[in-house]
Amino acid sequence: MSRGTVIDLCYLVAAVSFILALKGLSSPKRARAGNLLAAAGMAVAIGVTFAQPHLDHVGLIVIAMVIGTAVGVPAARLVKMTAMPQMVAAFNGVGGGAAAVVSITEFIGSDPKQVATYKVLEVVFGVLVGALSFAGSALAFVKLQELITTRPVVYPAQQMINAAVGVASLGIVLAILITSSTALIWVLLALALILGVIFVLPIGGADVPVLISLLNSFTGLAVAASGFTLNSNVLVVAGTLVGASGMLLTRMMSTAMGRSLPNILFSAFGSVVTASGATESADGRSVRAGTAEDVGTLLAYSRKVVIIPGYGLAVAQAQHTAKELADALLARGVDVFYAIHPVAGRMPGHMNVLLAEANVPYEELKEMDDANPELATADVALVVGANDTVNPSARNTPGSPIYGMPIINADSAENIVFLKRSMRPGFAGIDNELLYDPKTTMLFGDAKDTLKKLVAAVNKA
Ligand code: NDP
Repeated sequence: MSRGTVIDLCYLVAAVSFILALKGLSSPKRARAGNLLAAAGMAVAIGVTFAQPHLDHVGLIVIAMVIGTAVGVPAARLVKMTAMPQMVAAFNGVGGGAAAVVSITEFIGSDPKQVATYKVLEVVFGVLVGALSFAGSALAFVKLQELITTRPVVYPAQQMINAAVGVASLGIVLAILITSSTALIWVLLALALILGVIFVLPIGGADVPVLISLLNSFTGLAVAASGFTLNSNVLVVAGTLVGASGMLLTRMMSTAMGRSLPNILFSAFGSVVTASGATESADGRSVRAGTAEDVGTLLAYSRKVVIIPGYGLAVAQAQHTAKELADALLARGVDVFYAIHPVAGRMPGHMNVLLAEANVPYEELKEMDDANPELATADVALVVGANDTVNPSARNTPGSPIYGMPIINADSAENIVFLKRSMRPGFAGIDNELLYDPKTTMLFGDAKDTLKKLVAAVNKA
């Protein structure tokens, strides 16, 4: 077998491992193995690239890899779970930028007049989409890190300006295809960077994670385009997988939020905050605040308790204490499980990752659709740092920003207990009727502290 065939076979193995890894990542049980498989496939692909004949600039490549590893490994190890979306944004942006740079380098390093039109098309696609993704991801990072306002930035004639820059970019693409001008590629790069910024500016806090998933998909497509340019099958496969899975994830996230993708991208959602931090609603209704001792006794003598985790669980880092409480209840013969909303937290799978970190058995996690019928027979819905994902206005209030979003039916349980620090709203910035429900007890405080008190109360009961 020739060296070329062995190399191609190794790339094929890498490509197949990426596909199997994606399959693994679709279930919490196999996600870790899927991730390791993808990493192994990537190691094979990188390793075998060094076996390519005529590989230039090996020294520079090694230096770049050392710098990338020195930045990437500590960043991934040290990042807090709540800061994961901005890390994904940063890493994604770098990928898009790299794809654009590869396309430009190949274009200006060749004689564009001798290059087939479809090759030029690959280059302009890589530059346009890669640079857009780079600039958009950089701005999304800055927003999520709260270095600038997280709210949508809107100004007069915004859609018209965005459309004009988009049309100008397509005009330059056409001009490059016709003239093969290398000078125009720099104009396209500048326009794509501007487009990335103005595309992301009007997208607000709650929608930024969906946007990142979309930009992730763009980066994948740009990488696939640079794979065509470099004649690298493995880059084409990896880029297409990222592009397709990112697009599917974006669709799933928008469906789980009950909104269409155009609505998320173009409606400047999240610019209005309607709820306050007070313990009374605007019309003077008050809520029932309870004590950990009373709620602990209620839990201890229940038959079925459903724990509904949300973003607050991540903020409080209360996953281990939540498991302690569940274990204490299970030991008393109470039927306990966790109901997981697909967009609870701030990124897909946020709750699954947190609870897996606390070694919660997968059997105790139920997806929303499986959990909802069970809530009608539950004695207690224990809402730990969740808000929007249990807000009945998604069902009952046409015109609410979350109207149409499927929710976990905490309101159908016999008793509802909310663990949160105040009456402040969730991500969507709107009041939650359920907090004022006569069946609801509020346990105010940091979720971890309150859960500790509940564990003690259950053990005493
Ligand atoms: P929410 O953002 O609706 O609510 C979180 C609640 O946690 C807040 O009301 C807050 O109240 C409480 N909280 C914060 N810190 C603590 C703490 N230390 N201890 C106790 N409580 C705390 O969370 P959900 O998970 O219910 O909903 C997720 C939202 O994010 C949805 O609107 C979803 O659409 C959106 N989203 C999710 C994405 C995803 O992929 N998961 C992506 C994009 C958007 P208080 O301040 O009073 O404590």
